[in-house]
Amino acid sequence: MKLLKNLKSPIFRVIIIGILITTILGIVVKAGNVQIQNITIKYANGSETNIITSKTKVSEIIEENHIVILEDETVIPSLDDEIEEDKTIRIVKKEENISKKSNENTDIMLDEILLNYAPIVEKIVVEQVEIPFETITRDVSNGATDTTNRIIQNGKNGVREVTFKIKYRNDIEIEREELSSVIIKEPTDKIVQVSQKTTSRSGTRVAKTNPATESSSSIAARVSGITPYVKTMNASAYCSCSKCCGKSNGITSSGAYASEWYTVAAGSGYEIGTVIYIPYFSNKPNQGWFVVQDRGGAISNSKLDIFMGTHSQALNFGRRNLECYIYEF
Ligand SMILES: [Zn+2]
Repeated sequence: MKLLKNLKSPIFRVIIIGILITTILGIVVKAGNVQIQNITIKYANGSETNIITSKTKVSEIIEENHIVILEDETVIPSLDDEIEEDKTIRIVKKEENISKKSNENTDIMLDEILLNYAPIVEKIVVEQVEIPFETITRDVSNGATDTTNRIIQNGKNGVREVTFKIKYRNDIEIEREELSSVIIKEPTDKIVQVSQKTTSRSGTRVAKTNPATESSSSIAARVSGITPYVKTMNASAYCSCSKCCGKSNGITSSGAYASEWYTVAAGSGYEIGTVIYIPYFSNKPNQGWFVVQDRGGAISNSKLDIFMGTHSQALNFGRRNLECYIYEF
């Protein structure tokens, strides 16, 4: 009752209220100095812990919690820094420098994007392009089973001059369009002739007699052991003049000089050196014995062209069908 009485006294009230205010203020000031924080520590292995600390420097928080930073690990923010607003300390592997890595990726993507959007350069380019020759097969075998292939003309590539419009991106050709083309050189066809192996023998019969055995000719003596075959050939005559040969040097396809009463020109079915006996000429100096020494553009295997000494002789002979004995080696 005495205390209540005292409280009612104004002086006591002032003292008690003063003590209370001082105490409350003291507590508030102390709390303000300590600043206890809740911090999250995230480890390199993905785990994390929450700790409570009054420290604000990263190195101190680490030390306080006895956290060991390995050599290949690094701390974000760094040890010397103050804890940041997110109140998180990250311990990461050094090679997982994520921010740097993602920068590199960005660079590569940027390069790719730049490559795709690099300016396209257009150029007009003139190039010489080969024209491949074609191979033509001429079948003159008349369905024969025993055939032979002969190249009668070699093929040669031609040349085309082509103007292109070429688009480049970063110096790499990405598109070409042919604008125009001019043939500079025509290609030459390769011609392969398929013929019966014994073309020269078509329309022939084996001779019943061998005139070589009955002749004193030196040519006949060379072929007396060979059985000839007989064929009717369409014969004409020629001389060494330019009208007959287009030249007048008298040199035959075989390289030898043409000789009167010796040289005949025959088709390619007859080897150079083939001996031909023509009974029609049996009263001539050669007794009718000739040797194939020459060729001619118009001379097929059923034709003969007989070399004569003068142009008028050749003209007088004209053209006639003659029985021929052919001696092939
Ligand atoms: Zn002539």
